[in-house]
Amino acid sequence: MKERFWQTKSLLEMNDQEWEALCDGCGLCCYRKILDGYGKHERIYFTRIACNQLDLTSGKCCNYPRRFELEEDCTKLTKQNLPDFSWLPKTCAYRLLYENKPLFDWHPLISRDPNSVKLAGIPIQNGIHEADVIEWFDHVIEDL
Ligand code: SF4
Ligand code: SF4
Repeated sequence: MKERFWQTKSLLEMNDQEWEALCDGCGLCCYRKILDGYGKHERIYFTRIACNQLDLTSGKCCNYPRRFELEEDCTKLTKQNLPDFSWLPKTCAYRLLYENKPLFDWHPLISRDPNSVKLAGIPIQNGIHEADVIEWFDHVIEDL
């Protein structure tokens, strides 16, 4: 990969290796959202409810090769679904670049340290698995 490739290439121009390298591994996209209301009153609520396949400590998927088989709403981020990226957290590199914003200094591509995401306090600390939740609205958190 070329140095600072994300500053010279658009998301659509990136190759597979560059595209994958954009993911900082924060795991935030594996937490459930609640879509409430309709039309202009529609609102998305972020929650601390994690997909059952998520390792709450590492923020990694425990069943990555079987993720689409096990979780029907697990979404692969692709160039084709770029316009839907507004549901991603504001810190996510795909959303940032889609919105023409710079990456944060703690992104591993800049810090060159995979731990910098955790050190910056990005992952959710008090996640709970979906299987352990009764009332979803009890677990709404601030917008990510
Ligand atoms: S929110 Fe974005 S950066 Fe974080 S794990 Fe998901 S795709 Fe990767
Ligand atoms: S199945 Fe999908 S949503 Fe669930 S933890 Fe794995 S990658 Fe995340």
